This record gives sequence, C-alpha cells and structure tokens, in this order.
Amino acid sequence: MRVLITGGAGFIGSHLAERHLERGDEVYILDDLSTGSIDNINHLKTDPRFNYNIDSVTNWHLTAELVDRCDLIYHLAAAVGVRLIVESPVRTIETNIRGTEIVLSLAAKKRKRVLIASTSEVYGKREVVPFREDDDLVMGPTSKGRWSYACSKAIDEFLAIAYWKEKRVPTIIVRLFNTVGPRQTGRYGMVIPNLVRQALVGDDLTVFGDGNQSRCFTHVSDAVTALIGVACHSESPGQVYNIGSNREVSIMELAERIKYLTGSSSPIVKVPYDKAYEEGFEDMMRRVPDLSKINALIGYEPKVGLDEILTSVIAYQREKLSDSTQFAWPSIWQGRERPSSNQGSVNEGA
Ligand code: UDP
Repeated sequence: MRVLITGGAGFIGSHLAERHLERGDEVYILDDLSTGSIDNINHLKTDPRFNYNIDSVTNWHLTAELVDRCDLIYHLAAAVGVRLIVESPVRTIETNIRGTEIVLSLAAKKRKRVLIASTSEVYGKREVVPFREDDDLVMGPTSKGRWSYACSKAIDEFLAIAYWKEKRVPTIIVRLFNTVGPRQTGRYGMVIPNLVRQALVGDDLTVFGDGNQSRCFTHVSDAVTALIGVACHSESPGQVYNIGSNREVSIMELAERIKYLTGSSSPIVKVPYDKAYEEGFEDMMRRVPDLSKINALIGYEPKVGLDEILTSVIAYQREKLSDSTQFAWPSIWQGRERPSSNQGSVNEGA
C-alpha cells in the first residue's frame, strides 16, 4: 500500500509513518515544518520506501501528484497546541480549513480514501462525560480565540462527511484526545512535555488554574494503532471515531507524578489562566472519550498506562537535554556527568 501523510514530520505523523514502514508500506510525507521537525524523520530517510516532501498542502500541484500516487491519505497537517491557537488565530483558521479543502477536493477526483484528523476540542465546553461521537458540540463565543480551533475542525468534519454523502469519497474522521509521547514538543503549550522539561531543568512546574481540571492521556503508539485500524477498515467511511484513553488524571496529580518520577526538586506553582493564555481564557474541566464505537469496530483499547507514558517522555527529554551543549543544567544533574557548555536554549524538536 502507498500512504500519504500530511503533517508527517510532526509528532503523531512521524510515528504513523514509522508504523506503516514497519508494515511494509510505502510512505510519502508532506510537511512544511511549520510545527513539525526534520529531527522526527531523520532516522527514516535511509529507508527506500520512505519519501519526504518539505512543502505545504497548499502547493496544489505537488499535493495533487502525491494524492494520485497513494491509496490512503492521512490528513494530519494542522495548527497544533492551544498556545499557538490563541496567539495566531488567523493562521489556525486558514491552515485548518484551506488544507482540508484542498486535500478533500483532490482525493475526490479518484475517490481516494482519506482520514481527517480532528480533535476532542470540538466537544468544546460540553460538561457531560464521556463524550460520544454523536453528542452535541458546545462552543464558546467567537470573541474567545480558543474556540476558533474547534470551529475550524468542526467545519473540516462537515466537509469530509459532505464529500462522503454527496460524492461517495471514502472519508473517515477521527477525534484525537490528548495524545502524548516521545517527540512531542512543549513549545505549543502541551502539558506533559512542558512539565517534564520544567522538572528536568529545575524550573517551576506550572499548573494552570487550580489544577483540578483533568485529562485522559493516550500514548502515541496506542493512537497510531487506532489510526491505522480505523483508516483501513471497510466500514469506517462516513464515520467519526474518538481515539484516546479513558483513564482520567487531574493536572495537579499529573504534576506531582512527574515530579516524583523525575526525582525533581522543582516546586509546583499555580498560574492563573489569564496569565498563562489570555484574559478570559476558558478551559475544559474534563475531557473523557467514550471509546465504545472504536472498540466495536476494531477492538481498540489503550494499552500504555500513565506511568509508562511519563517514563517514555522523561527518557526522551533526558536524551534531548544530554545531546544539547546549550543548556543550563539544574541541580538534579549534580553528581552526574554534565555537558560542557551551559548557554542558550535547547532544541526540542517537534
Ligand atoms: N496546562 C498546565 N500547565 C502547562 C500546560 C498546560 O496546567 O504548562 C493545562 C492546561 O491549562 C489544560 C491541561 O493542562 O488544562 C492540558 O493542556 P494541553 O494544552 O496539553 O491540552 P488541552 O488543553 O488541549 O487538553
């Protein structure tokens, strides 16, 4: 099988590319490196079945050629992270909507199978958990930047379903809940890479709000299993599936666990949302997926627990930090071998 992954140099995309290569598939990726990183795919470049294109999905001719060449398209290229969304709403809205329009219209020409990566963010401010795929979506007002991400992804979903209903293009939608693991950067605000990094370098662990809000974290390897299972199933076109884990942890408990597992002496500090994001920022208190639909389709159940997730992220970030010659090392490194220089900032990758 030939597979195209837009956003293939990103955190999830690069793991997905790796798994398809392991299965013996030919993999094409398209990524403009706006939030992805070449570091994520360097190790794949020597594989003759791996092809990478550093360009945007808005490059119509290139995207058309790649879509024509492939049997299955994963459209993962999108704006990521709440911080980026709050800071660059124009980019978020345009990237998410325009990219999906292009991919779907090109796929429609030869009725190629397309999986559109959506997000749990579309459930918005819904308070009743777990979230089912056919639940009503509850958005905040348009004056609050955060909701532009949810709305742009909801439009992507409407469009994908319309292509299936009207033109019989086999489109599949997945709503990814908090997916974490090695290669995820904290640069765009994601909590686990951020807190782990803070713990390792001796900075304060920043818990936004009161820390009672909770999330369910999925290891990227479980998410990739689910993505491939859904994308390749004969009954998935026209459907929406949650992908995630249903084990909930509060952000305060998470920070405490990270502090414990890293052996960090950093304090945990609470930061008001207004300071962390923007005035009037609205967070979701809980975000739990109902996994019965995807479980019925492919027998999906997440396998990797929270400690294993955290251990894998800690190991990844320790390696990154020890590679860097540009880092201010904290007290936890005392007694261990330190790098020679301590200036500048670390290159996290994405
Ligand atoms: N968060 C936090 N400290 C951080 C980054 C995030 O307390 O350094 C909180 C954030 O406010 C949210 C939760 O952790 O309540 C998950 O944030 P993330 O951006 O990872 O995912 P999302 O909000 O999209 O679920």
